[in-house]
Amino acid sequence: MGHSILHCHFESALRALTQAKANKLPALRAVYTSPAYQRAAPAGRLTLLWQKVLDLTADEEIFTEATFRQIVQDLIGEMEINSVEHIDLRIGPSVGRWHWMSSSIDGLDIFQDELDRHHDLSIAFLAGINMTKPTNTLDGIFDSLLESGDLLGRLAGVDINFLSTDIFKFDRYVHTLNALQASGLKVNIHLGELFDNEVSRYVLSRITPDRIGHGVLLLQDKKLSDFIRDHEICLDMCPTSNTLLGVVDWGQDNPARRALDLGIPISINPDDPLLFGTDMTREIRNSRLRDDELGVIAAYGRKYRYEIK
Ligand SMILES: [Zn+2]
Repeated sequence: MGHSILHCHFESALRALTQAKANKLPALRAVYTSPAYQRAAPAGRLTLLWQKVLDLTADEEIFTEATFRQIVQDLIGEMEINSVEHIDLRIGPSVGRWHWMSSSIDGLDIFQDELDRHHDLSIAFLAGINMTKPTNTLDGIFDSLLESGDLLGRLAGVDINFLSTDIFKFDRYVHTLNALQASGLKVNIHLGELFDNEVSRYVLSRITPDRIGHGVLLLQDKKLSDFIRDHEICLDMCPTSNTLLGVVDWGQDNPARRALDLGIPISINPDDPLLFGTDMTREIRNSRLRDDELGVIAAYGRKYRYEIK
């Protein structure tokens, strides 16, 4: 059975570190057992992990073109090993620390080049917009997205994440997001994970996303569940991520089954596979779904994944 991954961050910095400086990875793994991590709420835990990745990659000269090509090849190799036929992959819309790129199109060209050798595999790209970043950084990201028709033409959509304290930034860009969506770009939003349903309710009053990242907490609210089912919004769930961050313990609870029983489409995903030390095979196992349920999810994956541009 060919799987579709609908929620996956490329994690280029962490992939580069794994490739070039694997000796630094134990310091990342140590975050999970630290007292600060144990004490923190899910949003705080994710921030601790992000901060550690930033610290570990800050002064590294590892972001070369050769390393980039290698990590793209590794990702494609992981698709083959885990029987994944398609990924909707979240990438950075700006070059970040890959200074040899003149724009992120140079990175997309390397993906294209490598995928040309694998006609049975496909990757659609979503520009990740991390609204925990400062407003001036986000203004630059939106400007470069809107100004580059070449980049927009290669993207299936955007994938938005924020914390509840960033809601004023969501307000700042929601008109732009609605306009992008009206022009044919897909809009995914992380909801029902790191903040309570009051925030999600507000967000959903201002935009109807094409898909929702996670969404597990939304199922606790009847009106939100009805809204998602009525709009046929697919919830892209991530068992290991939820369990490690403390959002939902998938060893105890099964939001995937609950959603299926409510008639809500879902997918199963690795989220940040390197950060959480997982892959699609593990996620399928950790979802604890029956074969017939997994068959339904494979069909949803083919229905809800985005077209390659
Ligand atoms: Zn995510």
